[in-house]
Amino acid sequence: MKCLSSSPMAPDSARPETSADTRINLVGLSRDSLRETLGTLGQKPFRAKQLWHWMYHRGATDFAAMTDLAKDLRAKLEDHCVVARPTLAREQISTDGTRKWLLAFADGQKAETVFIPEEDRGAVCVSSQVGCTLTCRFCHTGTQRLVRNLTPAEIVGQFMVARDSCGEWPTPTDERRMLSNVVMMGMGEPLYNFDNVATALKIVMADDGIALGKRRITLSTSGVVPEIHRCGAELGVNLAVSLHAPDDDTRSLIMPINKKYPLKDLMDACRNYPGASNARRITFEYVMLKGINDTISHARALVKLVKDIPCKFNLIPFNVWPGSLYECSDPQTVEKFAQILWDAGYSAPVRTPRGRDILAACGQLKTDSERLSAKEQRLRDAAEAEAAQQAWAEKEASF
Ligand code: SAH
Ligand code: SF4
Repeated sequence: MKCLSSSPMAPDSARPETSADTRINLVGLSRDSLRETLGTLGQKPFRAKQLWHWMYHRGATDFAAMTDLAKDLRAKLEDHCVVARPTLAREQISTDGTRKWLLAFADGQKAETVFIPEEDRGAVCVSSQVGCTLTCRFCHTGTQRLVRNLTPAEIVGQFMVARDSCGEWPTPTDERRMLSNVVMMGMGEPLYNFDNVATALKIVMADDGIALGKRRITLSTSGVVPEIHRCGAELGVNLAVSLHAPDDDTRSLIMPINKKYPLKDLMDACRNYPGASNARRITFEYVMLKGINDTISHARALVKLVKDIPCKFNLIPFNVWPGSLYECSDPQTVEKFAQILWDAGYSAPVRTPRGRDILAACGQLKTDSERLSAKEQRLRDAAEAEAAQQAWAEKEASF
C-alpha cells in the first residue's frame, strides 16, 4: 500500500477539535469510560463495542455513517458527542519519503508526528507532550519549555491522523500495513505522562480496533527510573532507553535527568524490566556526539556498563538543528565505536537518519515555547563541557 496525500476519510476526519464545542470527544476514552459515557446517554454497554469498531477499526468520524446504530441513537450521539482528531496544521514530505505533520489541538497548542516509511511497513513516531521538562543538550525539543501533557485523545489521535493521511482505514486484518509500528519517540518524555500514554497505547493495542501488538510498539525514555517497571508490567511494550553516555559525568552533562536518576539506578531498572529477555532486548539509543561520548574508551565502558542486561544498541548520528551545539562524530569514529560493541556480542547498527531536510529526524522536533536563547545555552554548555571532559580524561585510563 502506498501512502496517499489524502484518503476518502480525510474530509470527515479533518473535523477540528474546537474548544467552543462542548460535546464529549469519544476518542481517547478507555473502554470502561466509553461504556460509562454511553451509559449516561441511556445506552447499554454493548454499544461501546460497536462504537469502538467504527472509530478504531473503520476510522469513521461521522455518526451518520455508523449504520448499525439506530437512527435516534445516531442523532443523540451527534448532539452530545464527537469523534474528533487533532487538526492538521501542516504536512511536510521529505525527499526520502518521511512525512511530518504539525498537529493543532483544541486549545491551539501544537505537536509534531512523523511517519518513517520502509519498503512494506513503517513507524509512526508519536509525541507525548508539548515541549519537554528535560533539557537534554543535544535535543531540539529540549530547547522548548514544557507547555503541557498530551491527553489520550491527542496521543491516539496522532496515529489516527497518520492513518487518514495514508489511507489506511479500515484496519488491515492481515499483516500488510504501512503504519505497522508505533514509536513513542516524538516530543516529550512519555514516562512523565505515563497515565495518558498508557490509556492511548491500550487503545492502539486493542485487537478489535487498531490492533497493533505490543511487540510493534516501542516506548523511549530518557531514564525516568521509577516509571520504567510500570511500563513493562502494565503495557508490556518494547523499551528503548536514551543512554548516550557510559558514565555519570558525561551523561549528566548532556542529560541533566541523570543527576536525579544516575546510571546505577537506571541499569538496575533495565535489568528488572518485565519481559526483557534475549528474545526481547532493551534498546539502548546512543547519539554520536563528536568529542563528547564517542571514543574507544567510551565504547569499552559501555560494554562494562550493560553487562548482564539483554540489550542491543542503536547508534544515532547526531542530527543538527538551528542553534545546535554539537557535531556528529566522523563516520570512521562511529564505525570503530560500533565494532567494539559488535565484538562484545551486541547488535549495534547505525541508524540511517530519515527526514533531516524537513527537521523530522530524531531530536529535531520542535513547535513553539522558547526556553533559553541559543547564546545563553552555548555559554552554559561550553563551561560544563570542559568540566566533564576533564573528569572523563581522569577516568579514561581505567578502561
Ligand atoms: N524523550 C524521550 C523520547 C524522545 S526519543 C527520550 O529522550 O528517550 C528521541 C530520541 O532521539 C532519543 O533517544 C533522543 O535522545 C534522541 N535525540 C535527541 N536529540 C537528538 C539529535 N539532535 N540527534 C540525534 N538523536 C537525538
Ligand atoms: Fe526531552 Fe527526550 Fe529531548 Fe531529552 S531527548 S529533551 S527527554 S524529548
